[in-house]
Amino acid sequence: MNNKSYKLTKSNINSGLQCKKKLWFDFHEKILEKNNSRKIIGNNFNIIIRKKYGEGLDLSNNKDIPDVINQTQNAINSDKFNVIYEGAFIHQDTLVRTDVLIRKKNEWELLEAKSSKSLKPEYIPDIAIQSFIVRACKVNLSKIKLIHINGDFLYKGNNNYDGLISENEITKEVKLKEKDVLNYIDDLKSLAEKNKPCPSIPMGNHCKKPYPCIYQDKCKDDEPKNNFTSYKILPWCPNDLRKYCEENKIMDLQKVPEKFLLSNRKGFAKHYHKIIQEAHKKNEPWINPNLKKVLKKFSFPFYFMDFEYVDQGVPIVKNTKPYVKLPFQWSVHKWDSENSKIDNGKNFLKFSDHDIERQFIESLLEAVGDSGTIFAHSAKLAEVKRLEELKEKDNCKDLADKIDELIKRIEDTLILIGENFYSPLMNGKYKIKNIIKAIPNCPINYEEKDNIAGGDDAQSAWFICTDPKTDEREKENQKKFLLDYCRKDTLSVYYLIKYLMEKTKNN
Ligand code: SF4
Repeated sequence: MNNKSYKLTKSNINSGLQCKKKLWFDFHEKILEKNNSRKIIGNNFNIIIRKKYGEGLDLSNNKDIPDVINQTQNAINSDKFNVIYEGAFIHQDTLVRTDVLIRKKNEWELLEAKSSKSLKPEYIPDIAIQSFIVRACKVNLSKIKLIHINGDFLYKGNNNYDGLISENEITKEVKLKEKDVLNYIDDLKSLAEKNKPCPSIPMGNHCKKPYPCIYQDKCKDDEPKNNFTSYKILPWCPNDLRKYCEENKIMDLQKVPEKFLLSNRKGFAKHYHKIIQEAHKKNEPWINPNLKKVLKKFSFPFYFMDFEYVDQGVPIVKNTKPYVKLPFQWSVHKWDSENSKIDNGKNFLKFSDHDIERQFIESLLEAVGDSGTIFAHSAKLAEVKRLEELKEKDNCKDLADKIDELIKRIEDTLILIGENFYSPLMNGKYKIKNIIKAIPNCPINYEEKDNIAGGDDAQSAWFICTDPKTDEREKENQKKFLLDYCRKDTLSVYYLIKYLMEKTKNN
């Protein structure tokens, strides 16, 4: 085996393959990634992997790389262990840690774990880096497999996860890719050098794919500040518009010719790109002249509703599947009439009770009564979908008619806004937290420190609260954050509807 110092790791190479500037940041101005739900799912999946492949040498908690390399080497050379978890290898200044190595007579199988449901194209170069380095360290690899989560697995309880792991043999595809690994290393190694300047790379699609880059805020700050609004704020900016602007060096939204602006999209006003362009030109909101009529069709009492749900990855709730979204929280506020005050709100928050879905829907049906419009933002993609899914669950099927009645009363405020309102303060964005920026004196603030700022944070809070290692105090903190966050969403929708009603009163 080679010496024990290294410049690159597999993660570094993956960063560099996505964007060299990202890798430069990793070396010189690293931001530590938050404990996001993807990471937590990965850790939970690792526990199941160890159950399936059995006892062996587990080096995952050992961060002393020279020691891990020695132990890996010794385990390979002796026959004391048939399975090695998180072994380490260095070749060409590059360190890799292998998820699972399984001895098969004189050869080894390399298993790389991903907590997704299937093989993705970006996994092949990723795994090729592992296998290239492992082979170079004189380990005879007979097979290379991706192990991932079986999306069809149904958790029946009792900690029985037989069938959760799917194996996918990818020896041929990975071997073919191994020939590129030396080039990756040669191309990226110099970015680690102390005085290497940061590569100048503009932001683009690569900032979100294959993984959302954690340096996006940094890079946005680096972008030149303009005294005009960029065409890039346009939602669903079509490729021909982008291409035209790039070729003609246009950045200013006002300079985009009308023929490139989108005019139709379901849930949006006709000529909505033009509407956005005009609103920014005049620097004033656009309100559909029909809005008053639209609002008239809604009936009091108004309810404002929001759900939080989680992709468990490794399911812990009985009769649930890995990536079928599990609703665990709702918030509802009621507004009886235009002249009354909104109520204090009701909520539901549970984590892993075996009948959580039944409790969720029963309590929700009670909270929203049987008449009045229910407003929820982006409901077609979230609340309505979750309700449709609950209808199919064995323990909620008897409530299907009531759930259907509830769905009929839902008004999606994303569509309401898309068809009837735009303010330059939204900056091309239609999330509720962007829309409320256009409401004067709206008291809701999503940017409070240490708080939950979005759906992914809410999912992470679910994971923290369901982790047996989390102490009670931390759980209480997270619960408070969750209640506060979900309540903010429902109150934001209330302020939005109230604002639109006031705005159209004298029309
Ligand atoms: S935000 Fe985009 S340009 Fe900036 S480092 Fe990340 S991937 Fe590269």
